[in-house]
Amino acid sequence: MQPLEMELENRFGARNYHPLPVVLDRGEGVFLWDTAGRRYLDMMSGYSAVSFGHSHPELVATLVEQASRLAVTSRAFHTDQLGPFLAELCRFTGMDRALPMNTGAEAVETAIKAARKWGHKVKGITPDQARIVVANGNFAGRTTTIISFSGEAQYRDGFGPFTPGFDSVPYGDAAALEAAITPRTAAFIVEPVQGEAGIVVPPPGYLRAVREICTRHDVLLICDEVQTGLGRTGRRLACDHEQVRPDGLILGKSLGGGLLPVSAFLGRDDLMSVFRPGDHGSTFGGNPLAAAVGRAALRILERDRLAERADVMGRHLMRGLQRIDHPAIAEIRGKGLLIGMDLDPTYISARTFCERLAERGVLSKETHQTVVRLAPPLVVDKAQLDVAIEAIGAILRSIDTRGVLNRRGVSRVAA
Ligand SMILES: *Cc1c(COP(=O)(O)O)cnc(C)c1O
Repeated sequence: MQPLEMELENRFGARNYHPLPVVLDRGEGVFLWDTAGRRYLDMMSGYSAVSFGHSHPELVATLVEQASRLAVTSRAFHTDQLGPFLAELCRFTGMDRALPMNTGAEAVETAIKAARKWGHKVKGITPDQARIVVANGNFAGRTTTIISFSGEAQYRDGFGPFTPGFDSVPYGDAAALEAAITPRTAAFIVEPVQGEAGIVVPPPGYLRAVREICTRHDVLLICDEVQTGLGRTGRRLACDHEQVRPDGLILGKSLGGGLLPVSAFLGRDDLMSVFRPGDHGSTFGGNPLAAAVGRAALRILERDRLAERADVMGRHLMRGLQRIDHPAIAEIRGKGLLIGMDLDPTYISARTFCERLAERGVLSKETHQTVVRLAPPLVVDKAQLDVAIEAIGAILRSIDTRGVLNRRGVSRVAA
């Protein structure tokens, strides 16, 4: 019998998610607990939103203190939190100006609007003709405009008509980007490592080549670091792996310290200066509660050297997974603590694998049919990662590989 809470969600919720059958009611650090009191190691971190771990005491204290002082004012007034938050965000990222929003999708929408207006007003593209190049396999959120440039059939099915103005090129192929650029191209929006696509790492030198091409053609390079930013890949920004500075930068997820939705679009002065009062905004964007939590998140990230930690722990996790050396593992890829284990579906689907992981007290979620995402909070330690590695190894060892080989033999004969 399934728990009542699950039944209620299934009965009264729209069915736009397919969660694993656990009902969580508490989190602390890298651990989550279900309503029966069972403890799990969190290898998901809320799609990288919970980089600092659950209920980080300092973040919670900031949240409570700020909420009891001043939470929401709208941008009709200045607050004592927003200016310092934006300044600290610009210093952290090396950008000139920032525009605060709430969700990642809103920050991507902001980037699209900024790029288009820059294209028309600064680059001199004919009004309403600006185009934006994106990469195949991109994930940038679920708004109508964003799904318009998604290559994922399910994200689009039934949701048209779509927003025009986007051109898609293969990810990891700099020459394809250059070939797609025309005088109407305003920007290239790209993830330095593709997250939802299945943790896809581009070939070395890709970002640097893309930077050079964008500069040569007066095209904005906008990096969507909603998932890869703020330490996740072992650097402050994933762009730092190739010492690339984008013209525009999109942050979200862990910027809210795992407590609130906080996002931002940041950029060069001439790009951000296209916005005039009234052009763009959001009721909750930049509210003092979000700003205070965002400031604390940046402070903790730097002080506790969480990017360096992600680098060290990511290597440990990667080595541990590689040592398992099982035929069901097609590929292990990633950077820092953003790692994908690509499974050969003839052995086991990623969904079944995640269900078995949950039974062993480790929580993760598949992306697409074959990839198991391994992205714990950045505060995770080696012993905790070893628990996950051990559980993964045990599940793989329990697969009857002879059965798979027999089935394959039979199908080969039949073919
Ligand atoms: C999650 C994500 C987004 C969208 O963020 P939401 O907060 O879910 O709207 C955008 N870009 C990337 C790369 C993401 O991983």
